[in-house]
Amino acid sequence: MPTETFEFQVEARQLLQLMIHSVYSNKDVFLRELVSNASDALDKLRLAALRDDSLDADISDLHIELEIDQDARTLTVRDNGIGMSYDEVGQLIGTIANSGTAEFLRELKEAQDGAGAEGLIGQFGVGFYSGFMVADEVTLLTRRAGEKKGTRWTSRGEGTYTLEEADDAPQGTSVTLRLKPADPDNQLHDYTSVWTIKEIVKRYSDFITWPIRLVGEAASEGDGPAEPETLNSMKALWARSRDEVSEDEYHELYKHISHDWRDPLETIQLQAEGTFEYQALLFVPSHAPHDLFTQDFKRGVQLYVKRVFIMDDCEALLPPYLRFVKGVVDAQDLSLNVSREILQQDRHIRMMQRRLTKKVLSSVKSMMAGDAERYATFWREFGAVLKEGLITDSDNRDAILAVSSFATTHGADETVTLKQYVERMPDGQESIYYITGGSRQSVDNSPHMEAFRERGIEVLLLTDPVDEVWVDAVGEFEGKRLQSIAKGEIDLGARGDEKSEGEREQQAEEYAGLLGWMSEQLQEDIKEVRLSSRLTVSPACVVADAHDLTPALENMYRAMGQ
Ligand code: ADP
Ligand code: MG
Repeated sequence: MPTETFEFQVEARQLLQLMIHSVYSNKDVFLRELVSNASDALDKLRLAALRDDSLDADISDLHIELEIDQDARTLTVRDNGIGMSYDEVGQLIGTIANSGTAEFLRELKEAQDGAGAEGLIGQFGVGFYSGFMVADEVTLLTRRAGEKKGTRWTSRGEGTYTLEEADDAPQGTSVTLRLKPADPDNQLHDYTSVWTIKEIVKRYSDFITWPIRLVGEAASEGDGPAEPETLNSMKALWARSRDEVSEDEYHELYKHISHDWRDPLETIQLQAEGTFEYQALLFVPSHAPHDLFTQDFKRGVQLYVKRVFIMDDCEALLPPYLRFVKGVVDAQDLSLNVSREILQQDRHIRMMQRRLTKKVLSSVKSMMAGDAERYATFWREFGAVLKEGLITDSDNRDAILAVSSFATTHGADETVTLKQYVERMPDGQESIYYITGGSRQSVDNSPHMEAFRERGIEVLLLTDPVDEVWVDAVGEFEGKRLQSIAKGEIDLGARGDEKSEGEREQQAEEYAGLLGWMSEQLQEDIKEVRLSSRLTVSPACVVADAHDLTPALENMYRAMGQ
């Protein structure tokens, strides 16, 4: 088969441009990305071999190699993992499958500052392309385990790449970077330096559970070939006690498993002993991913069994409303052959889910008590997701309510918990008042607010779609009913200038004609027209019956096609 030349997909080309004229201040991370891919490839091969006895693959010494060629100025990252077929290389390396990429590129244009752009890129896993930050040509040679023929992919990152069959490819993948000249002023270090490479591996990839070996001439000091040196300690961080591990080490593990470039907001560790032993290391990200509310959002943590990677995105270990949590769970007593179907029904897994859920909720609670600013970030990013739990997880409803807080008429920026609301409720107020709507501005301007504002009564401003649903599911808090100010009759009690019974009757008579006429004109759209004491400035407002859907909820159901 002759060499074929292909054009990068438009989005891929744009991302490559970003890499080449790098927006990252820290270029060292290219190595973390390539090592991370190699590690994934080794995980996949071990698992494939475990599942399929007939797979013709050598798994006797799975590892990652780094080779420096000082004369040619190249650095090669090699693994003997799962590899890729010819078609896979084209699909995985030549295109960006992520449907959010167009959206991302738009956001990126808006993000003026470099830091914002760097953060944004992190969400989109452009891992492999980061090689182009430090290299002017990248060659990838790969052979899929079990297949005879290999593939060579080459590109200068300038719009095209070539693909050809390769007879000489060993199993696995090697990525060779032809390095740009070092430019320390631009954070472009000398990646032919053994010392630099060792340092970067130690800093970013120490926890990788496969050996990362330095091989070749540059590796052997003095004369003759030496034993290849293993650069990483390979210690599973989740199995070590917290005081042995630095914050940085946890953060690097988080970045490896989440494909996020930013530090997590919170690190949570749990070591369960006893008859069903497991260790968990969970992370709350500092930013909600852009696709958190889409159908194909991949949720779940990584599952290991006795240090062996079993699967990504294991959904069974956490409920959907904690789908933003990332991490690793390593169980001692599960079969290596465990499948997603089995996990869904396993009694131990259900117990683990309960325990992990409680642990996450209690961590949020400590965050709330100990660090208001971090909690505020958490709530801003994930509050809308967590509130789904108020509907779906009645066992933990109280714990979720305890860490939920809401915008309020009694504070421009700060939020209030239901507990705080009830504590500062004036005597005689029997309900917790709220209003739902699409935005803070729209609820602020709602005519329903007038009477409450006039009387200085606190109203919770609920503007997430899920709010419509949980308020009904929860119903009350500490014996106080959750009451929408846009539904049914609300008796706000007497006010100094309130009209007497007689006056009201007189008014009703006076306006009977007008009300009758209005009812007739609007009969297609409304049930009744009545006089109201709710309004102070606006002439009229639309009120729903106590049991009706609110307009926002109607829209939500309509959007869901119901
Ligand atoms: P990500 O790792 O986030 O998926 P990358 O750009 O780093 O994104 O890699 C894209 C894909 O290319 C990977 O998902 C994987 O399928 C494939 N790939 C990359 N490097 C390797 C490798 N060393 N071995 C096998 N497959 C690889
Ligand atoms: Mg990657």
